[in-house]
Amino acid sequence: MSDARGVIGLEIHVQLATRTKLFCADDVVHTGAPNTHVCPVCLGLPGALPVPNGRAVELAVRAATLFGCTIHPVSRFVRKSYFYPDLPKGYQITQLHEPLATSGALTLQSGEHVRIRRVHIEEDAGKLLHDRIDGRTAIDLNRCGIPLLEIVTEPDFRTAAAAASFGREIRQLLRYAGVSDCDMELGSLRIDANVSIAGDARTELKNLNSFAHLERAIDEELTRQAGVIQAGGVVTSETLGWDADVQQLRVLRPKESAAEYRYLVEPDLPPLVLSEALVARATADMPELPAVRAARLQRDMAIPAGSARALTASRALADYFETAAANGDQEDPGLGARAASWVLGDVLAWCNANRSGIESYPVPPQSLRTLLLRVGAGGITRAAARQVLKQLEQGTADVDSAMAAAGAGASPDPDVLGRLVDTVISEEAALAARYRAGETQIFGYLMGQLMNKAGTAADPQAAAGLLRSRLDA
Ligand code: MN
Repeated sequence: MSDARGVIGLEIHVQLATRTKLFCADDVVHTGAPNTHVCPVCLGLPGALPVPNGRAVELAVRAATLFGCTIHPVSRFVRKSYFYPDLPKGYQITQLHEPLATSGALTLQSGEHVRIRRVHIEEDAGKLLHDRIDGRTAIDLNRCGIPLLEIVTEPDFRTAAAAASFGREIRQLLRYAGVSDCDMELGSLRIDANVSIAGDARTELKNLNSFAHLERAIDEELTRQAGVIQAGGVVTSETLGWDADVQQLRVLRPKESAAEYRYLVEPDLPPLVLSEALVARATADMPELPAVRAARLQRDMAIPAGSARALTASRALADYFETAAANGDQEDPGLGARAASWVLGDVLAWCNANRSGIESYPVPPQSLRTLLLRVGAGGITRAAARQVLKQLEQGTADVDSAMAAAGAGASPDPDVLGRLVDTVISEEAALAARYRAGETQIFGYLMGQLMNKAGTAADPQAAAGLLRSRLDA
């Protein structure tokens, strides 16, 4: 990555997580036979009338509150006319001068403050498919009319890396709040970047369908513009597309001016008026957001900042972790730290190896918790526990059977270890008394006696903890 600097703003489109489309009752689908989820409204047949989807409006308001935007009680839909084969109506219903919400901001975990200029609702277009019919382009209109939220930032980014981290954080936030699944591969999160070297004309970069591409494309464009200016040339306003196959930008078209879109107020829709009830519904069940949740894990469970951030990367992962670490403060003070290290280690390693999310991880968090409590009580070593986890990952139903299958069942359980500690303390009563009187160096000898009795299956750290706690009791 270069460290090229410029003035960068982002336009982010996300598909709102509704069941049906924005102005008709067709199902929102990402797969399935082409052109099977269409109707006169989303095809723009004469006489068909749009009816706004209340849930889409709720989700848009929910998103706008995440950024602390001013939400306008009355906003307006307009028609943006342009000709393209994936747009059967010949226009897109969107919002222009009177958008749903304006002037918000998002403070990133880096502390950087990014201003959000506006948030508005619009409909999606269809999709051109170039790989279905040899030598020809096919059209799938299932996507026509799917509700989109467009989020426009102020040009507050100076580097490609800053723009990409913003993209990642906004994706995390929108997912937490249930606004969108933000799946870039399925196209439910799409980012365009406006890029200029300060004071010069800007170009718009499209089709940035991963954060890596976004970063790469902005970097290339900053470098290209700097080159043009250094050579005494002038940067022209144009729309560029990122071609992922060759990792290059290419010119798509000269940039349209607003006049070319022939905006007009949508005659088939009244102004969008937000009722108080709708706004209340939109924000009622807002979950704890990632930054707050990470701070709570840091504070209440003494999880280091970096781990807390990793554990709260998604709601599902954070939920998994919190279930695995539940009630640690009462039952086992080390449980939180242990659960953090196992979830970020073994559990995520399985997810990465299987290219799946925590949702598909086969071991329920309650089972991991049971296993980690045994590790904490010295009933099983870390290495043996890892074998047990492997058994559970392969489908063994419960921890006891998994321990038997992993051959870890022979290791002393917590009660056994406790009895061994008591035995050592009574056999070495004189030494234990001297330890208690302050000769702490005797601990090592007592520990040796304990490990002789416990054997290699016992976790030395847990055994030491138990011995110390009984000596100090
Ligand atoms: Mn748009």
